[in-house]
Amino acid sequence: MLNKRKSIALLGSTGSIGTQALDVIASNPEHFSVEVLTAQNNADLLIEQAIRFKPNVVVIGNGDQYERVKNALWPHAIKVYTGDEALTSVVQMDSIDVVLTALVGYSGLKPTIKAIEAGKNIALANKETLVVAGELITKLASEKGVNIYPIDSEHSAIFQCLVGEFHNKIEKIILTASGGPFRGKKREELSQVTKAQALKHPNWSMGAKITIDSATLMNKGLEVIEAKWLFGLSADQVDVVVHPQSIIHSMIQFEDGSIKAQMGLPDMRLPIQFALTYPDRLKNNFPRFDFTQYPSLTFEKPDTETFRNLALSFEALRKGGNMPCVLNAANEIAVAEFLNDKIGFLKMSDVVEQCLAKMDYIKHPTLADYVQTDKETRIKALELIN
Ligand code: MN
Repeated sequence: MLNKRKSIALLGSTGSIGTQALDVIASNPEHFSVEVLTAQNNADLLIEQAIRFKPNVVVIGNGDQYERVKNALWPHAIKVYTGDEALTSVVQMDSIDVVLTALVGYSGLKPTIKAIEAGKNIALANKETLVVAGELITKLASEKGVNIYPIDSEHSAIFQCLVGEFHNKIEKIILTASGGPFRGKKREELSQVTKAQALKHPNWSMGAKITIDSATLMNKGLEVIEAKWLFGLSADQVDVVVHPQSIIHSMIQFEDGSIKAQMGLPDMRLPIQFALTYPDRLKNNFPRFDFTQYPSLTFEKPDTETFRNLALSFEALRKGGNMPCVLNAANEIAVAEFLNDKIGFLKMSDVVEQCLAKMDYIKHPTLADYVQTDKETRIKALELIN
């Protein structure tokens, strides 16, 4: 079993992954302690979590909430900070063993870089960080001897299949996709779908951004790029198959043709727990999968004509350079504007496609180039929408 109690900085503690991570931590107080909690806006929940888990430090992103959080937590001797600078400095605290990044989107990039620079292992739920700057992040991690443990269920599945086989070559990986709420629908049927319909995922309960990404298949596209960097693969080595039951979380095909799959009920607490306990497994009481309840597990090809985001993601990955960063920034704006009722469902992939065509290509971007690309793409995407 784990030989040392791990001290965790949880970035994004009030979101879907953050709250489930705290469930895992609360069930195993002998193995984990909380050193840092951070949230963007949800001050009430952050205060409640801080009083319960007694971190050393709390960061509230939204400055308007700072006084309230500080006043609520001073009797508990918990330090409270606000702002981006605070986020990037607290991840470097000596007392932290693991930084669990459950921030949404591009906002995860800088704190993750700072944490890696300080030699902290990363439990990564924020896939956009690897999409935007995978080359830079993985290079920095290897220089610093830092491990990046995936929390995304597909990547955790691949990682679990790799245990004991790290020396063996991967022929390809097969990422499974649920297909989202609109699986089987054609473009004509999707032009009028509402935000409420898009927010109803059949199998997983998640935050708004990733739920929309699942409905458009952008989530799978981002995961293809994430997998490339986590496992050192080329675009040709990543296949996507639609598996509506979400029981097989992904598979590896090795060079001898053998395929390993990782299975279980869709429950993010398992990949969160494994990212924190690797190479050990901890006993838990999560619901168990029963094969007789699922007499048929089915598989189909993704429809990339209807769900163009998946094809666009492969295109961005093949072009490389700053194109995945463009893809991500355009998508973040498109999803936000869809959630604001400014654009329809199909328009989201139009915005992404046009940004990929219009933004300047940079073959070997620096961090400053990524920051600039992100900023300029957001401006371009908003121009295209308004
Ligand atoms: Mn996933």
